[in-house]
Amino acid sequence: MNPLPPEERLRARIAAEGPVSVADYMAEANAHYYATRDPLGAEGDFVTAPEISQMFGELIGVWLGDLWQRAGRPAAARYVELGPGRGTLATDALRAMRGAGLAPPVELVETSPVLRALQAEQLPARWHDDLSTLPLGGPLLIVANEFFDALPVSQFEGARELRVGVEAGRFVRDGAVETETSPPSLAMVAELARRLATQGGAMLILDYGHDRPGTGDTLQAVSGHAFADPFEAPGSRDLTAHVDFHALAAAARAEGVRIFGPAPQGVWLNAMGIKMRAAALAKAAPERSAEIAAARERLTAPDQMGRLFKAMALVAPGWPQPAGF
Ligand code: SAH
Repeated sequence: MNPLPPEERLRARIAAEGPVSVADYMAEANAHYYATRDPLGAEGDFVTAPEISQMFGELIGVWLGDLWQRAGRPAAARYVELGPGRGTLATDALRAMRGAGLAPPVELVETSPVLRALQAEQLPARWHDDLSTLPLGGPLLIVANEFFDALPVSQFEGARELRVGVEAGRFVRDGAVETETSPPSLAMVAELARRLATQGGAMLILDYGHDRPGTGDTLQAVSGHAFADPFEAPGSRDLTAHVDFHALAAAARAEGVRIFGPAPQGVWLNAMGIKMRAAALAKAAPERSAEIAAARERLTAPDQMGRLFKAMALVAPGWPQPAGF
């Protein structure tokens, strides 16, 4: 481990080698950011859908359980989650899956030791640094919520890849962004699609982003629930970019899986029955009715998380059509 904080490490690297690519800058900043804290929740930097309400993870579990049942209940299926945060989504989804008779082994792909420890408090699982160690046999039921937005993007002005240097003590990007792409995201989706095509199963990707390529600069930083400058204090704020669903779909389709969506998250959650789930929860705990209604609104309203966030499914050949699309 390098003892220098990431800001000093980046400064030293740029002083020695010259400017680094935007992708390297983002990778280095986020590796440190996630390795050193739990960023989620009211006390942290941002709140994600599973932390807003149990309904989110439950409906994902219902979606997986339904698909698994209609696929003929394959016994060897496994639950795989990418970047599981505090383990909340997995806990809620697995509870809902048990209702469908599905209790799969759990494989979590997580690089942060801090978050691994929190996940281990929530559920028994096996942990992976990357996709290479995921089991080769049996269908995979894969979930990724707000995962791909944290992976590095490369940015270009024309054909020139933009870099980050230091000028007068500040990090500065050396041009105007025209296009943006996330090679690590494309590589991961392609590898998982290949796994689905040979092993069976499905993957649900939920994230914020767009279905049209070429939207320019979407790199942003969030700190303490507010937008911040991505070129200040690298490693101490969350760097994200919008997910290019169009590009992810193309990468997956090329490996032989079928794509459903992307659908706006609000549309998908409504189709999955969030209204009924909210009503059932409110009936069981009337004193929480207002809180449950507010959570549903936050997850589904177009001016909140309902439209910018999207759901997209990758489904193995021979597996049934998924619900909600
Ligand atoms: N899915 C969770 C957390 C989202 S935050 C939720 O919805 O609440 C992003 C998650 O991805 C964190 O768990 C972070 O540690 C993890 N992560 C980021 N980059 C990663 C990488 N390259 N490989 C594996 N996990 C990564």
